[in-house]
Amino acid sequence: MKTYQQFINGSLVNSHSSDWIEVENPYTGEIISRVPKGNDADAYESLEAAQKAQTAWAAKSAPERAGYLRQMAALIRANRIELARILAAEQAKILPLAQVEIDFTADYFEYYAGWARIYEGEIIQSDRFNENIFLFRKPIGVVVGICPWNFPFFVMARKVAPALLTGCTIVLKPSSLTPNTTFEFAKLVATLDLPKGVLNFVSGSGKTMGNTLVTSPITDMVTLTGSVEAGQEIIRASADNVTKVSLELGGKAPAIVFEDADLDIAVKGVVDSRVIFSGQVCNCAERAYVHKNIYDKFMDKFVKAMKDVKYGDPFADPAPAMSSQIDRAQQEKIDAMVIRAKAAGAEVLTGGKKADTATGYFYEPTVLVNCRQDMEIVQKEVFGPVIPILPFTEYEEAIALANDCEYGLTSSVFTKNINTTLQAIKDLKFGETYVNREHFEGMQGFHAGWRKSGVGGADGKHGLMEYLQSQVAYIQF
Ligand code: NAD
Repeated sequence: MKTYQQFINGSLVNSHSSDWIEVENPYTGEIISRVPKGNDADAYESLEAAQKAQTAWAAKSAPERAGYLRQMAALIRANRIELARILAAEQAKILPLAQVEIDFTADYFEYYAGWARIYEGEIIQSDRFNENIFLFRKPIGVVVGICPWNFPFFVMARKVAPALLTGCTIVLKPSSLTPNTTFEFAKLVATLDLPKGVLNFVSGSGKTMGNTLVTSPITDMVTLTGSVEAGQEIIRASADNVTKVSLELGGKAPAIVFEDADLDIAVKGVVDSRVIFSGQVCNCAERAYVHKNIYDKFMDKFVKAMKDVKYGDPFADPAPAMSSQIDRAQQEKIDAMVIRAKAAGAEVLTGGKKADTATGYFYEPTVLVNCRQDMEIVQKEVFGPVIPILPFTEYEEAIALANDCEYGLTSSVFTKNINTTLQAIKDLKFGETYVNREHFEGMQGFHAGWRKSGVGGADGKHGLMEYLQSQVAYIQF
């Protein structure tokens, strides 16, 4: 069993607490590592280190800061196989997908390094003849990053890369379920000559240590990726200091399959979306609306494809399509939601129960019909390989059903008609819309949810802007 240390002020250090968080491999049930259950003293120390380092870090040129991001990318690439194996083990992510996440993360550091000479301020027209108005963009300061368990390595980079590139310093806390890859990265970062305090990794409970990080007056911005509940708690906790928050929260993405859709593309798009990482992806299709004229044909293909989904050991070669849920609690939560759906009238066409496997917390790929729009299974995030499918008759009906949701992260449409595509993009009230493909965003886009799915967003130019604040100078001559 591995024991990890926190990374504070440029060093791998022991925690002030003597408590530990044990990390379970969800597939084998084995305890594979332990990380410190950090306390307030760790939180303060890391924030003070980040605060002390920030002015000098911001004084370096952006290309110089970018150089460190490139070194981080190179370290990830040099250790890509080992990191993927650690990721696959800590969360039962099938190895090929874990490898994609590791490689994508290296690309992400390089992508943001490329922004060093690109982001800029503005010169604004003044009402006065002899005046220039300059809008400067300056780093926000000390950032607290809080990560979920589903893409722990990538989401870490999604916060660290833009923060460091813009001259912010950061204290990042991974999820207690999946801290291993973050602390492996910390060990790699410790070999660089990165100035002390610029990047800090701590571990601990969200509600205690996480709350201390959020409420500290040192913290200038909190970026959370996690559940709506955690987002709401962070909004409340950041109120006293009016700290900026950037929140990427849950989703309940609709997929709409129109009458003229290529059914094979639609079936593949929705199935891939639902079973990738065992259905534990915030932006993936969580409900589908299918036109009544193609409903039977679609369902034949769709149910067959869901029945054919292989699940098993994340390290198996060839890899199955999915593996275990993250833990027993998640498996139980999914099961309870399906049981309540059945009690409310839903019919199970395949799956509908925990899988009978020797190890792991598997849930069978599940298709539900006879669901009503107001049912919990249609309205609330399941975060498992379960999908309710509802028929629709009119375009307006499909759009209204899709939009009838407290979340607003992503959506998708399947159609060959460009007019239907453009009209749907206009009418859908979601931060992202995918057309004729699975739900998965690009690093140059902007991943930002509407309604309860979040505030602000990540990736691309607009994600970089989250870490910058403006200063406007009126210069009369
Ligand atoms: P979670 O909200 O339980 O935990 C996320 C992180 O927040 C953890 O590190 C946790 O310790 C911390 N935390 C919890 N309460 C806190 C508090 N009061 N103060 C400070 N920190 C706190 O989420 P999870 O179960 O790890 O992740 C799954 C959720 O994340 C799903 O709802 C999923 O949709 C969402 N998610 C969203 C995106 C996105 O980009 N929108 C991406 C991935 C996951």
